[in-house]
Amino acid sequence: EDTIDLRTWAHRAADWTADYRDGLDALPVRPRVVPGSIAAEIAAAPPEAAEPMEAIFADFDRVIAPGMTHWQHPRFFAYFPGNAAPAAVVAEMLVAGMSAQCMLWQTSPAATELETRVLDWLRQALDLPATFQGVIHDTASSATLAAVLTMRERALGFTGNATGLAGGPRLRIYASGEVHSSIDKAVRIAGIGEDNLVRVPTAGPTRGMDPTGLEAAIAADRAAGHKPAGIIACVGGTSVGALDDVTAIAAIANREGLHLHVDAAWAGAAMICPEFRPLWEGVAAADSVVMNPHKWLGAPFDCSTYFVRAPGDLVRTLAIHPEYLKTYGRDGMVNYSEWSIQLGRRFRALKLWFLIRAHGLEGLRAMIRDHVAWSRDLAARLGAEPDFEIVTEPMLSLFTFRHLSAADGAADAHNLALVEAINDDGRTYLTQTRVDGRIAIRLQVGSFQTTAADLDIAFEAITEIARRLDSATTV
Ligand code: PLP
Repeated sequence: EDTIDLRTWAHRAADWTADYRDGLDALPVRPRVVPGSIAAEIAAAPPEAAEPMEAIFADFDRVIAPGMTHWQHPRFFAYFPGNAAPAAVVAEMLVAGMSAQCMLWQTSPAATELETRVLDWLRQALDLPATFQGVIHDTASSATLAAVLTMRERALGFTGNATGLAGGPRLRIYASGEVHSSIDKAVRIAGIGEDNLVRVPTAGPTRGMDPTGLEAAIAADRAAGHKPAGIIACVGGTSVGALDDVTAIAAIANREGLHLHVDAAWAGAAMICPEFRPLWEGVAAADSVVMNPHKWLGAPFDCSTYFVRAPGDLVRTLAIHPEYLKTYGRDGMVNYSEWSIQLGRRFRALKLWFLIRAHGLEGLRAMIRDHVAWSRDLAARLGAEPDFEIVTEPMLSLFTFRHLSAADGAADAHNLALVEAINDDGRTYLTQTRVDGRIAIRLQVGSFQTTAADLDIAFEAITEIARRLDSATTV
């Protein structure tokens, strides 16, 4: 029996959400909680008797909300953004209410047909050719796994699913050291093995894969009796935004008959702006591309879009037809579960539809352009300070820097301590990375709530805390 009044509580939840979003600016971006303190507040055993919603909601407000890291905060400059535009949040609320399962056309006809349409909207917005078709995955990790499985099956003449990999030649996948760990994981899960993920050396300021090195690696593998299966290029690597030369790599992939997958999980969103498209020049010749609208574009987590040039290979790799999934009489309709790892699928197209309509492409472009411009400004300001160095220049809205301590110079320990101190302070939130073996601090501007004034606050927080930390350690 339904004991709660959905209308009352849905209104409460909507009010709470609006108040939460309005109040973010005053909160520390990362909560000041110690590990285990929240679990200690939560009952260790489930209740036997029903509890009043009032009590549950009050505990949410008291225990859970203050223990969250605020991804919608205007000064969230860590990792990559995880924007949730209000219009798309409303769509998610509607989706939660319907809670439809969108595995087959017939289990959710409107969700399927909307997914086809909005993915084609996005394809047009990114200026990908009409030969590409899209599907929504939960995350880029899943989309990249689908790509690696497709590479594997293509290389094996679509026999790997049936007979496994035992006894065959080593399958080889090529990528630079700048790609995200989801590529390593996909190669693992696909049974290819991380030892067969060949790291192609990078060169130049963009830290792109060296095409000559790629060709040499493929030739050496063929000579050794291995089986090259595919190449993964990155457009906007996670650490510092590395960029592979997609045109040069696509030419090699084409010549060698290899599947080329492009990971533009973060930077792909910027390709709605024509001026940034040279960064992935050549993408039209790739076989697949992943871009996460749940990062920079404003679709609430989770929403990853996967575009493929030949859906036939993908479907041949992933489709499976037990009797209970057969759809007699509707065989011509697209069933997106055949395009993805999971069977059950959330209705994720609605938030993209709301998002794109509520902002228009021009509105989304304006946000991305502001972020890129503000990131450049902040990098220039920090770089002009005598005790800071810019380690990697802004790639779109991401750059890295170090503080030069009076005692130790740009020491790793000092910069790690600085990231921790900045995050404890709470005015902003940053993360660290390693560049050529040494710690650097990453800063990306990408929150929809950010204004130019937030960059001033971040500049003050970073410089003030760095100098305070430095004087504390040198005294
Ligand atoms: N690719 C890149 C370049 C990323 O930066 C990330 C995550 O930050 C991923 C892939 C993985 O994304 P997801 O969390 O959607 O699996």
